[in-house]
Formats: sequence, C-alpha cells, structure tokens
Amino acid sequence: MAYSEKAKLHYATELKGIKEAGTFKEERFIESPQAANIKVEFPAGSPPKEVLNFCANNYLGLSSHPEVVSAAHDGLKERGYGMSSVRFICGTQDIHRELEEKLTKFLGTEDTILFPSCMDANAGVFDVVLDKEDAMIADRLVHASIVDGMRLCKAQLFNYKHSNMDHLEEKLKETQDCRFRMVITDGVFSMDGDIAKLKEICDLADKYDAMVLVDDSHATGFMGKTGRGTHEHCGVLGRIDVITTTMGKALGGASGGCVSGRKEIVDLCRQRARPYLFSNTVPPVIVAAASKVLDIISKTTDRRDKLEENTVFFREKMTAAGFDIREGVHPIVPIMLYNAKLAQDMARDLYNEGIYVIGFSFPVVPKGQARIRVQISAGHDREHIERAISAFTKIGEKYKILGMKKNEIIEMYGL
Ligand SMILES: *Cc1c(COP(=O)(O)O)cnc(C)c1O
Repeated sequence: MAYSEKAKLHYATELKGIKEAGTFKEERFIESPQAANIKVEFPAGSPPKEVLNFCANNYLGLSSHPEVVSAAHDGLKERGYGMSSVRFICGTQDIHRELEEKLTKFLGTEDTILFPSCMDANAGVFDVVLDKEDAMIADRLVHASIVDGMRLCKAQLFNYKHSNMDHLEEKLKETQDCRFRMVITDGVFSMDGDIAKLKEICDLADKYDAMVLVDDSHATGFMGKTGRGTHEHCGVLGRIDVITTTMGKALGGASGGCVSGRKEIVDLCRQRARPYLFSNTVPPVIVAAASKVLDIISKTTDRRDKLEENTVFFREKMTAAGFDIREGVHPIVPIMLYNAKLAQDMARDLYNEGIYVIGFSFPVVPKGQARIRVQISAGHDREHIERAISAFTKIGEKYKILGMKKNEIIEMYGL
C-alpha cells in the first residue's frame, strides 16, 4: 500500500502536536445564513444555539442582504451556473467586464482584473511585475497570501519593521541600484486593525522612485469617507500603483478578488498572472452579486456610516468598561488579554453568554499578546452591540480584569 504506516504515523503525530500546542482549529457549524444573528452547532453534535456573531469579516452586513441574494439569483438565471473555462478561452462574460469597470471606478484606479480570490491576486501579481533585478520591500506583518506571492517572484525580498518609516527609508536607500522597487503593505493589518501610513509611504516612494502596492482586503467598501479604502482614508487616492483586494469580506463575503491599478500592470496580469490564466473564472452568480454590492455602496454611504458609528460606540463603551483595547478607528477591535488561556476561557464564556468571538494567541499573534478580536459590522444593531458590551463586562468582572493595565493582567495571569 502506498499510504504506509510510517506516513500515517507521521501525520497523526503532527496532528497530535498541534493539539498539544493548543493551536488545533476546531470548526463550528453554522446552521443559518451568515449574519449578525446566527445559529451555531458547537460543540459538534450539540443542539444549535442562537448567538450574535462578532467575528465575521461581514463589515457592511451584506453577506445575506436580500438585494444581494436576489442579484445572485438573477445572475444564476441569466448567465448560468459555471463557465467551465478560464477567462481567456471562453470564460469571460459581459458581466465580468462590467464588474471590473465598476471596481475601477469605485477604487479610483485605471483598470481592474478579477481573480478567483485575493489570495490568487497576490499569488499572481508580483511575479508579473517584478523580476530578478528588482526589489520587493514589504512590511514585516503583511498577510500570508502576500508572503506566498512574494515567494513565487524572483525579485529580491526586503522587509521593514512594522509601519516603521525610518526603516522603510533605510531599505529604499539600500536598494537604490535595483531596476524597480515596490513597497508592499496591507492597508489594514488584520490582528491589530491598525492602518498603514500610506501618506508617508507614498511620499517616500515618490522620493526614492518606488512603486506602492496595498492589499486593502480589510478596508475596501468602508474605510474612507465614501468607503473606497485606506487610500481614501489616508488621502492618497490615485497615488497607489497597485491595489489588491477581496470580495470575500465587506463586498458580500462570498469570494473573488482583484488587482486594480496602473493600466499596463493590469493588462500584463491578463497575459501572465498564473492564477488568472490557469484557474477557473469567477462564476456568474458571484459576479452578479458583487456587482450589486458595488451599486449599493456607490449610491449611499449609509452602511459604512453605520459601521463607523457602531465601531465608535463599541470602542468607547468597552474602554469605559475598563477593557484594555488597542486604540484605533477600525471595526477590528482587539481586546488585549496577553495570556493565551485567559483569551480562550473568556471567549468560551462569552459564547455561553450568546456572543460568538474567538481568542487569538501565538502563533497567530506574537507571544504574550493573546487577545479576543472583535469585529463590528453594519449588520449589528445598537441592541446587539449593547448585548456584547454587557456580556463582556460580566465576563470581565468574573476574571477581575476590568480597569487593569497590561502589567496587572500579566501579573495576575502570567504570559
Ligand atoms: C482575507 C485576506 C486575503 C484573502 O482574501 P481571499 O479573497 O479570501 O483569498 C488576502 N489579503 C488580506 C490582507 C486579507 O485580509
């Protein structure tokens, strides 16, 4: 038998190691559409329980919005289920072109190319635009999909300390002799919800003649006055050469991603980006629904405004309740607990109170920085947020951490 006892034992031991390290990921089964209110079967086999979801990337509350679902139905009816092709053979419909045009307009770029996911966009783009004689200068905390994309590219890799502009400048000086340089960053970093210093980055890029790529997956649709993303938030619309982003978060949350930016770069991606050339086209049903999402958010800023209000309300009340939260403006709100077990225990207790949140610890975040990451949505009503705050307060009292500073929590619970 090809699957030997030796191989089997090896994999089983790996799995056991993951469990012993406390990093085994247990999936919870949701028995309802994705929304603020969901029905969850957890632990597996137990009867479903109604909880409020505070850990989805459903920032605009559009994942199960009736108009979006209806547009998906229409797409299915009018353009079918699958295209059975990649884009360049016979997988491009009029609605693909239309969605790419809407994304270009929304993001304020020159052109856009769809990918099956943002992971694929990042896997494809670097290898297309950079080569051996070029340099990639990336923030140390960029998303895993960027790390993978850069691995697939022959350009030299440099890292700068997270959001450290002096260090970035050092790297820009160091790479003066390269043909092209590209500064690479997430628009919003997913564990802290902090925003890249795009104004400074663009200024440095101008000074040292480098391109800028921003992965705006945690921002597209709601950051900035009209929701265009971190480039709008930071006042650098039109200055980002390449934006990669996802439709799997705020933009309906199904799937799909894109590379949007300079026309020649997008054109070249159509010719050479491997995940675009060799993976199936985004299905019509997704394209139709995402297109509706762009119509909705282009017409009114109501949803991103509500998200902002919800976020401000939650951040203020949680701070007043005595929680140690990472400051910021993003709907990702990290409740800092430092100790991994404390984060896990509190998340479990909150779940029993009807609030679905997840504790994050090493290796997802640095050692000694365990936390519960809350994500606010425009789909939350004020009453949902108030319930979350009161559940947090109750559980915070139970663990006696309210009003405590970092050192005090660590003193009490260790690291
Ligand atoms: C979620 C995320 C991705 C992956 O997006 P998919 O479309 O789900 O592949 C890529 N980059 C960042 C920064 C993300 O947060």
